Amino acid sequence: MNSFILRLLVGSLILISSSFASTPKKLITIGRDLKEAAFPQGKSNYKHGIFEDDELSLIEVSESDFERISHLAHEKFNRCGGFMVHENENMAWKEIDNKKNRLSAQKSVMVDYGINQQATVKNLIKEVQETNIREVILKLSSFKNRYYKSESGSKSSIWLSEYWKSLVAHRSDITVNRWKHSSWPQDTIIVEIKGKTEDKIVIGGHADSIAGWWGRERARAPGADDNASGIATMTEILRVLVNSNYQPQNTIVFAAYAAEEVGLLGSKEVAKSFKDDGQNVLGVLQLDMTNFNGSDLDIVLMSDYTNEAQNNFIGGLIDTYLPGLSWGYDKCGYACSDHASWNSQGYPASMPFEAKKGDSNRHIHSDRDTLSRSGDNANHAKKFAKMGVAFVLELDN
Ligand SMILES: [Zn+2]
Repeated sequence: MNSFILRLLVGSLILISSSFASTPKKLITIGRDLKEAAFPQGKSNYKHGIFEDDELSLIEVSESDFERISHLAHEKFNRCGGFMVHENENMAWKEIDNKKNRLSAQKSVMVDYGINQQATVKNLIKEVQETNIREVILKLSSFKNRYYKSESGSKSSIWLSEYWKSLVAHRSDITVNRWKHSSWPQDTIIVEIKGKTEDKIVIGGHADSIAGWWGRERARAPGADDNASGIATMTEILRVLVNSNYQPQNTIVFAAYAAEEVGLLGSKEVAKSFKDDGQNVLGVLQLDMTNFNGSDLDIVLMSDYTNEAQNNFIGGLIDTYLPGLSWGYDKCGYACSDHASWNSQGYPASMPFEAKKGDSNRHIHSDRDTLSRSGDNANHAKKFAKMGVAFVLELDN
């Protein structure tokens, strides 16, 4: 069938079905493997298939299905995320049609990945302190939850924004902003260290947390590992760079995204806006779960939906600056975290992870995701903070 007519038909079907629906319907793109687990063939509730190839499905689901899908993503595939929510049909098809872009953002070599800042990097990574990371994890996990729709979710992000402001208060070249989202109350927090150029290097992680199936606004979701650890790691990278009075060539962006756990909503909006503004992004580093040392490897780079050359570069940074550490690769599937939002917009992204997927923290998305699961310390996350400092300094020069 002609794809225009197909889309027209699909559009009218969605319109008709949504007018009868009791809960709001949403279009999502989801990895085939996760879709098949969530809607096994023959099960009556899978009736919304719109498009499918070997990689992705585009389906329409009730908002009430999100809980079950994200629970499965976590339980069965050890993924934090696993699907992308789209505001409208156009944007959903765009993600499907975007395959070439995604692949090119994985294969292209977009910058010179030379490693030649030995003196600066060695000096600065010595400044990384475990106690700072630990304290931020404890603070963030002390909120009842950081759910994107809850009051404590909003408050936790406002706390982070104030904390980041306090770290950069002595620098007039640094801004901290609360990025407002129109559809939910939790803000994404953005720090910018102005460089000599407008080109950007982005260090990101999600600030929200989630637990339970129903009543998530009230559920206890400490999210110490998922993802207070990533936010605390970013915070330490920021602190070290700022305290050293480092003046970057390019603009360094730190982004604590809202609403990752419900379909990468926050990062999707941010990455799309960078693209729409024509921003040149040299590299994106996603920190999502850095503090559970579950494998024999210290740092595991996700090889899918990430940039191959930038991943090799990170491996080189670990070999050069953290010679005692071991690293390797694993895969985490479609839309497993916010790097996927950047990859979809054609930007080179990487996601260094705490362990192989099968060895990662089993307690995430529950009230058991506390720092005690990581021995009440941030020793593992400290390695990621050092790697992150090296990443910024070497990519910037
Ligand atoms: Zn996460």
